[in-house]
Amino acid sequence: MENKITVSQLQQVMQEAYETYKTNNEGANANYIPFLANVPSDLFGIVICLQDGRILKVGDTSFVFGIESVSKVPTAILALKQYGAQKLLQMIGADATGLPFNSIYAILLENDHPSTPLVNAGAITACSMVLPIGDYKSKWDAITGNIEQLCGSAPVLLEELYKSESETNFNNRAISWLLKNYNRIYDDPTNSLDLYTRQCSLGITAEQLAIMGATIANDGINPITGKIIFDAQYAAKITSLIATVGFYQHTGDWLYESGLPAKTGVGGGIVGVYPGLFGIAAFAPPLDSAGNSVKAQLAIKYIMNKLKLHIFNNNKPVIITE
Ligand code: GLN
Repeated sequence: MENKITVSQLQQVMQEAYETYKTNNEGANANYIPFLANVPSDLFGIVICLQDGRILKVGDTSFVFGIESVSKVPTAILALKQYGAQKLLQMIGADATGLPFNSIYAILLENDHPSTPLVNAGAITACSMVLPIGDYKSKWDAITGNIEQLCGSAPVLLEELYKSESETNFNNRAISWLLKNYNRIYDDPTNSLDLYTRQCSLGITAEQLAIMGATIANDGINPITGKIIFDAQYAAKITSLIATVGFYQHTGDWLYESGLPAKTGVGGGIVGVYPGLFGIAAFAPPLDSAGNSVKAQLAIKYIMNKLKLHIFNNNKPVIITE
């Protein structure tokens, strides 16, 4: 059975999701990074980028916010490009931790293995792996250049966020030295942590994130620029990582309820990937206790459920242009 969805139906359901949750005031901005606490809490936007490059949007879709942990996705893609899938598995791993994003416990439990590039430990390791080893400037250019290619436009460094985060990232400092202790940092630990902190401080819009999601959904070809950004074989690899740990300790609940592999960040952004169909992003700063945007989650779940898009449904979704 085919699940036929028209573009205008999709746009309408996005609008409904937006109207339904616009005034929801649950959750709170991240406050452990002072800069994030001051971002206006009522911002809210949803964007879908279809596989053919069409963009559907509603709300605050061009507001520039902190990418935070969503940056772990592009840097994992960069590591896949530079090292290949097997090496990434050996050097970082692809396991769910079932624990909070900044867990030290997860490192102790799997001390031969930071588990996945999509939690802090594995993401700091991924930053340490970015080539060329030992050349901070070139590594940074590789990280930002890769994000620019995935999104079709450049991210901007939010200097104030970078400063705020650098001054308060004590837990992450402990993580990077613990990784060093277990030989799981492949470059200088301080510089690797700094690269990680700086990539988390990049400013991005919901529209850019949706295009990144669509590039992954489209087997590595950016649907806006038409350029091949990564080899098609890595699309399923990165989507597996996203599906297993994108919401940290709440990933199973999220997948069960929404049916969409998606990755969150404490800046309030979520990017989702529906292979062969679309990338979706939603943004709203107030977070739940696991650090995931309340309204962005509600909006994406609404759209997925209303259109029966759960990725494990046996109903072959097709998007039809009227
Ligand atoms: N930079 C943040 C941190 O390391 C990112 C966390 C997140 O978005 N979940 O704590």
